Amino acid sequence: MEFESVEKDLMGRIGRLKTRHGVVETPAVLPVVNPNLITEEGAITPRELYDRFGFRMIITNSYIILKSENLKEKALERGLHSMLDFPGAIMTDSGTFQSYVYGDVDVDPERIVEFQRLIGSDIGTILDVFTTPKATRGEAEEALKTTLKRAKDSKKIAGEMTLAVPLQGGIYTDLRERAALDVTALGAEYIPVGGVVPLMESYRYRELFEILFHVQRGLTRGVPVHLFGAGHPSVIPFAVALGMDLFDSASYVKYARDGRYFTEYSTRSVEVLEELPCNCPVCSNTDARELREMPQKEREALLSRHNLYVIQRVIKEVKQAIREGTLWEMLERYGRAHPKLWKAFLLIGERWEDVEQLDPLYKKRLFLISKVSRGQPVFRRAIKRLMERYQPVGGPEGLLIKESGSFTKYLGKGYEDKEILLPSPYGPLPAHLFEVFPFGQTVSEDSFDEGEILSKYSSLERVEKAPEGGDWQWWNMRFLWGGVQMQFGGDVPEALWGSPEEAMKDVKVVRSKKTSRGRSVQYRGKHYFGVRASEGTFTLSWFSARALLNRFEPPRFRVVVSEEAAPYNAEGRSVFPRFVVDIDPELRPGDEVIVVDKDDNPLALGRLLLSPREVGEMKSGVAVKVREGVKSRER
Ligand SMILES: [Zn+2]
Repeated sequence: MEFESVEKDLMGRIGRLKTRHGVVETPAVLPVVNPNLITEEGAITPRELYDRFGFRMIITNSYIILKSENLKEKALERGLHSMLDFPGAIMTDSGTFQSYVYGDVDVDPERIVEFQRLIGSDIGTILDVFTTPKATRGEAEEALKTTLKRAKDSKKIAGEMTLAVPLQGGIYTDLRERAALDVTALGAEYIPVGGVVPLMESYRYRELFEILFHVQRGLTRGVPVHLFGAGHPSVIPFAVALGMDLFDSASYVKYARDGRYFTEYSTRSVEVLEELPCNCPVCSNTDARELREMPQKEREALLSRHNLYVIQRVIKEVKQAIREGTLWEMLERYGRAHPKLWKAFLLIGERWEDVEQLDPLYKKRLFLISKVSRGQPVFRRAIKRLMERYQPVGGPEGLLIKESGSFTKYLGKGYEDKEILLPSPYGPLPAHLFEVFPFGQTVSEDSFDEGEILSKYSSLERVEKAPEGGDWQWWNMRFLWGGVQMQFGGDVPEALWGSPEEAMKDVKVVRSKKTSRGRSVQYRGKHYFGVRASEGTFTLSWFSARALLNRFEPPRFRVVVSEEAAPYNAEGRSVFPRFVVDIDPELRPGDEVIVVDKDDNPLALGRLLLSPREVGEMKSGVAVKVREGVKSRER
């Protein structure tokens, strides 16, 4: 089974899972289908899930089918897809959850896997040992051992069916991490995280998120991860941000039976609703009173459909947020649903360094709403780079201008030998960095004139106002020098151009006449960098790429590909992860990279789409989107 990552934000991603019954785009929620109940009047059929709601994958329970003579016979004879009338992918569970709810289950671990294969399940699940949060460490360890043994035995009989191997480990984060490592080593292609429903039922979100952080450390990023039993819309955005790709929901129908109505943030009883705060087809055609007073069965039918619409809406919202790089914003909104959820959300900010490894560099925008917004990895990364990479271009004397306004009006007139700083949400910020990501993309009502960065200056003069105007070339050199430090590293501008004074003579920034934004950079008359103006980042040319290769040892700035792939990349084709033999570990998704062969010959220029860790772990998809190959250029 192939799985690739298409778009990323935080630790979350939009993925494409190729099954024998079509492609499933993730994140996705799989509605739980109870084969005993779909024939009831008003029940949602699998066909309706596919046609009307657009679900491309569902999950059903093979244990329930096995235990019913009638269903078992039908499933063996006609196959699961025909029996349920569902053309998409079907995953089956094995009875583990039943063992948690009803005590022991009466089934053989190998028999249930074989049965799932025989009825044509796309993804079958081993019979793992459910570990509750109450389990002792000893019990949890024992359960892991048994589960791992069963996984090994099951692998032999799974055939062409993809085998899901759930992670247990109870509340012991180190056991969770080890389980993830073990299951990864086993080569599992689909990994659910199990045993978490009791945590969610008692709002123990912080413990859940802690577990997911540890799971993420042990897992490969190359397989889809499923959070078992998490189908409530309020939790989904967080779980996605923590790297979960798939979910399942039985609650849409279970809750409907109890007269419970989903909203994005909570569950309400229809008994107390005077309004239906939703525009789905159900809520557009009825009102709260009608819903309250209608017969139980009819109400259940409508409520379960409404609940599914809400789930779909949240999934779409999550995907759009990932595409825009605004998932954090969404979490800040959703976190307010419950104090315990908020407390758990804060953990993502506390663990920002874990997230930062996988988080793309560039986002469409950065809203700072509250103090908590400053915990997001892209903000923290900017502060870190400012402290580690940035050295004042304009010398050790700072001039802090308190007056806010357009940063390009201060072009050095009367203070050429100082570095101009302006208050910003990041603290005092060199004015020329407002053209650099993320400083120019940050939207905030707060700015500070105190901050760590002041330690970089030997003296600081504070003034209310400063003369406007000056020399663009003076400004350009600072913008370029500072921007390159932030993007490529503190030692890079000097290695490329010697000193700021020399750069003043040799380097030219070409700006748009209309917007005065940077367009490109020339060095001694040659094209050196392109400028992505909306981001404030530089793109490499062959000229600058060769300069970097000459001055910096491998693997810095490089993605090294195998001999087999080299000719294709040289022609301008994208780099696939499995052909990468080495990569600069400091790179992040979104970075400019030079694709080279084993002898350090440049092959192509492009943009890295994955983190170095993912490049090592993903089996399909694109690692580097190539802009230009050496051969494509000569052609
Ligand atoms: Zn509705």
